[in-house]
Amino acid sequence: MEYMLSRISLGDSNNPFDEDTYIELCRPYCPECMSTYGFQEIRVGDLPEEDFVTDDHFDVDNLEVQTVFLCPVCGECHKTVEEARNCCIEESVYKCLNCGKVINEDEYNDLDTTPEEVYEWWAVSNWFGEKLKDQGCIVVESWGKSYWGRTTTGQSISLDGCVARIAKNMEILEGMDHEWD
Ligand SMILES: [Zn+2]
Ligand SMILES: [Zn+2]
Repeated sequence: MEYMLSRISLGDSNNPFDEDTYIELCRPYCPECMSTYGFQEIRVGDLPEEDFVTDDHFDVDNLEVQTVFLCPVCGECHKTVEEARNCCIEESVYKCLNCGKVINEDEYNDLDTTPEEVYEWWAVSNWFGEKLKDQGCIVVESWGKSYWGRTTTGQSISLDGCVARIAKNMEILEGMDHEWD
């Protein structure tokens, strides 16, 4: 894997990986915490209430300060979380897996990136590859096969944050007494 990936820039047609693979290896920096932990894409309709940013708005009619909720996509102010969620409900936002910062798609596409250091490559099923990708993990595909680039090493795979979250989503680990984050 290392060898083939290192030869991407040579444009060898026998190389199963190309420039697109390289882009997959690049991780965006979070503008808030500067980590490259990754982002989760979330539909605004599925965004939890606590992820909506609030602001204090001075209401000139009633002469009082009101809390308003900002639409995470367009930034417009709304009186309730429901209104803020309904504003751009079909759009997606990106949430930092490290600090929880939520940004919109334009901001996400403008983030600086850096190639992630991969310690181990694992061949995984395409199904598991998709799940890992959803969790912000590095997964490259070639010729119908998926490869997962682990950025941690020396610990059991079940302790990897992304694997733990997948398991959690599938409720496999439900009831296990462990703090995963
Ligand atoms: Zn909006
Ligand atoms: Zn962050």
